[in-house]
Amino acid sequence: MFQKFLDLKSIEQFWKIVEKKLGIKPNKKEMINFKESINSILAQDIKATENLPAFDRSTVDGYAVKSQDIQGVSQSLPTYLNLIGSIKMGEKADLEIEDGQAAYIPTGAMLPKGADCVVMVEQTENISDHMVEIYQTAGVGENIIKKGEEIKKGEVILKKGHRIRPRDMGIFAGLGITEFAVYKKSSVAIISTGDELVEPEEKMKFGEIRDINTYTISYLLSEINAEVTQVGIIEDTYEKLRSSIEKYLDYDLILVSGGSSAGLKDVTVDVINELGEPGVLVHGLKVKPGKPTILGKINNTPIMGLPGHPGSAWIIANKFVLPLVKLLSGQYDVNNVRKNINKEDIIQPAILSRNISSDKGREEIIPVLIEEKEGEKFAKPLLGKSSFMRIFIESDGYLEIEVAKEGIEKGQKVNVYLF
Ligand code: AMP
Ligand code: MG
Repeated sequence: MFQKFLDLKSIEQFWKIVEKKLGIKPNKKEMINFKESINSILAQDIKATENLPAFDRSTVDGYAVKSQDIQGVSQSLPTYLNLIGSIKMGEKADLEIEDGQAAYIPTGAMLPKGADCVVMVEQTENISDHMVEIYQTAGVGENIIKKGEEIKKGEVILKKGHRIRPRDMGIFAGLGITEFAVYKKSSVAIISTGDELVEPEEKMKFGEIRDINTYTISYLLSEINAEVTQVGIIEDTYEKLRSSIEKYLDYDLILVSGGSSAGLKDVTVDVINELGEPGVLVHGLKVKPGKPTILGKINNTPIMGLPGHPGSAWIIANKFVLPLVKLLSGQYDVNNVRKNINKEDIIQPAILSRNISSDKGREEIIPVLIEEKEGEKFAKPLLGKSSFMRIFIESDGYLEIEVAKEGIEKGQKVNVYLF
């Protein structure tokens, strides 16, 4: 039976349907040790439980003094202070500086009571065990980092929804925050349909092609911490696809590559509609490449059908699947999906280096290469068929031609969305 594309949806409409009909609740939370948390999404704000630093520290090797004792000193008119001892690293400074006194202090050690600044050792002369010559002035607070100057106890340092990066480890380690709540990883199953497909390791017979989409898409999603199951290749039959999808209905998201179009062998729509309610929500997007895209829901499980052409599948995976997985994993707020997505786009303004035409009525996505000439950035469109993967390897990002436009002229300013 033929499933015609009856009602193509715009990008805007797609996300409205996700918001209204998919009923996404971000994944459950779990406690995690910070050492296992890299790339996880915070399910709570992280508040500082301590001040950082926890005490006033010296930022140089030198002498802790009262600034009033060294006012107006110079090379020709130094002052002499009584040396009352040394502060040790990693210990409480238990001496107190009085008028006319100084104590040696190494970088990072705790400032002793009474002192209000540190003079660098290079600007002093050690006269004896009991006396130091100082020939450089220092103001109150100089060469000191105050308790809580970097982070104050109680301050929110990382917000819920944040993805944990290597540098965040410094905050966890530095403040002793070792356990916190993150969202559980999203479980995603990817199924490739097509009688013509073979595994990358296999010898190909004439007419066969290797499965590409399983790999591009699963590793794209692994990068954002999803737990992806590569189901592998399934024949283009209703029964095979149905029984395969049924196995993954407890997953957070099912992806079906291929068979999403409107041909005789494209059974994905039927399978989704017959497996559960509400079934198919979107069949067909006003996006080029990527028209044969499906969004559906089988009872509680979101499912997407992706175009088989590797280039199209790659675009749809980047523009739709990736943000959807971010929603499921709590990285985005479900109520304002578009705003969330736009916020994360990395945009490079550039000048278009040749004319490009576009179909009116579909938003067109064109991979581009960024070239720099005489300090200006140019966007060179890489045109090819939607089956091409190579242009995506060579491109830096893509530009979008709005639905209503018929093209963009050479020399125009464009925004390039970087991959
Ligand atoms: P379909 O969307 O199933 O009509 O497939 C469109 C085109 O993409 C066909 O030429 C398929 O052979 C090809 N194709 C489908 N799935 C894959 C895949 N997983 N890897 C590479 N090419 C594919
Ligand atoms: Mg197919």
